[in-house]
Amino acid sequence: MNLRTPGPIPVPQEVAEAGAAPMINHRGPEFAAILARCEEGLKEVYRTSNDVAILTASGTGGMESAVVSHVSPGERVLVVTIGVFGERFVDLIRTFGGDPVHLAFEYGTGADPNAIDEALAANDDIRTVFVTHNETSTGATNPLEEIASVVKGRDRLLIVDAISSLSSIPVETDAWGLDVVVSGSQKGWMLPPGLAFVSVSERAWEVQEQCTTPRAYLDLRRARRSAGNGQTPWTPAVSLFYQLDRALALLREEGVEQVWARHRATAARVRAGVQDLGLELFAEESVRSDTVTSILPPDGLQADELRKIAREEYDTVFAGGQGSMGGKIFRFGHLGYTTDEDVSGALGAIEGALARLGHAVPARG
Ligand SMILES: *Cc1c(COP(=O)(O)O)cnc(C)c1O
Repeated sequence: MNLRTPGPIPVPQEVAEAGAAPMINHRGPEFAAILARCEEGLKEVYRTSNDVAILTASGTGGMESAVVSHVSPGERVLVVTIGVFGERFVDLIRTFGGDPVHLAFEYGTGADPNAIDEALAANDDIRTVFVTHNETSTGATNPLEEIASVVKGRDRLLIVDAISSLSSIPVETDAWGLDVVVSGSQKGWMLPPGLAFVSVSERAWEVQEQCTTPRAYLDLRRARRSAGNGQTPWTPAVSLFYQLDRALALLREEGVEQVWARHRATAARVRAGVQDLGLELFAEESVRSDTVTSILPPDGLQADELRKIAREEYDTVFAGGQGSMGGKIFRFGHLGYTTDEDVSGALGAIEGALARLGHAVPARG
């Protein structure tokens, strides 16, 4: 199957096999060594000297840990959104009794740093800003460096969902001053789902000590304390740690800057290939993502009809639109372990499905 969802994505064979190794005691020296290597490898990719916690949870678990650790009941925080995953932060903050001030930008666009600056100027009481780096639901990447510069200029805490960008698109945790950065294993990391990564700055650790929201499984302070002893607070997904260890070695071998360049090149190929088929891209040109491309079907055609034919006749799986974009777009994931053959095959599936649905594909020269 050509799995073109923006997570999960295909896993390299050697990473898959690493998951089959025998179980070990998660409170013994073998696990401690793996945990230490994984933390070091993650810090390299995060470009940080901050602690990086590894949680047995999906990406949303990482987001929830950031919310319960830094937002106290009744506290106003700024949440900048450009799509469905940004809105998830709003929901989580409300769930735990926080008071999100929601600064929403249109789907398919990126956030305007000046508007964030104005919102912070007008809300002196707000200490913390939440933002999505790469909005997987729309295929748009926010100008994170500029946003961080504004937020840091106003001396606020910055919490970033980098679940579908970290390891694939440049993120400079320390150089940009990102306080908390969340990622998830099944995106660019070339791993199965099940692990979340959360980096925490010194300043964020201090905020956590003041935060009054109850928390247990996702308490990052417990993760930090246990990591000091070469352990995790609760039984970890040991097999996924074996796989993380291997995937980080692959990323190191290739070099993270080379991995970014590869994603840039692959994304350019996907965008050009899709446009050659006469289709339009949903996200504005200046913010188009290097990990996921959102595509509008031709007039009169449902995106889900095209996805169905791609799946049934070409064994190629695209993701649909989420929320209000259901049926209106489809999404082509090209993060992590994506080969040239995967891209050609997926473009061929779109071409075949269009032809089958009676939509002529423009002649190519
Ligand atoms: C996938 C994703 C999530 C959710 O992660 P889960 O692992 O599905 O919980 C959140 N934010 C972004 C940007 C994502 O791409």
